[in-house]
Amino acid sequence: MADLLEMSCACGYRAQVRAGGLMRSFEQESWWPFNCKKCGVVNINWRNDVRCPSCATTDVTPYGQAPVSLDQTSEATYVQAWNYKASKSGHLCPRCGDYSLKFNRERFWVLAD
Ligand SMILES: [Zn+2]
Ligand SMILES: [Zn+2]
Repeated sequence: MADLLEMSCACGYRAQVRAGGLMRSFEQESWWPFNCKKCGVVNINWRNDVRCPSCATTDVTPYGQAPVSLDQTSEATYVQAWNYKASKSGHLCPRCGDYSLKFNRERFWVLAD
């Protein structure tokens, strides 16, 4: 089961992200949105190397953790996959630099094995 989500900001920035993996392949494929300082929001399959798929840096931070997300402890978890979790709002927007990026659940994939 994997979530296809959209992250969007009031400034117009949007990114499609994936969280989770499929039951039959989750040991090879487990996705989570990360922030790359250069490329912005990127999807990383962290079962492989945790590095940016565009510029290959390992200087990436998973959303849901400082410094790319505000303190998440007071808000309900909106999206979760394994040890990664994030609340709906309070995420750093790579375009405007505000913590106004939000998750929207666009579609929910439920693929039976
Ligand atoms: Zn990058
Ligand atoms: Zn923005």
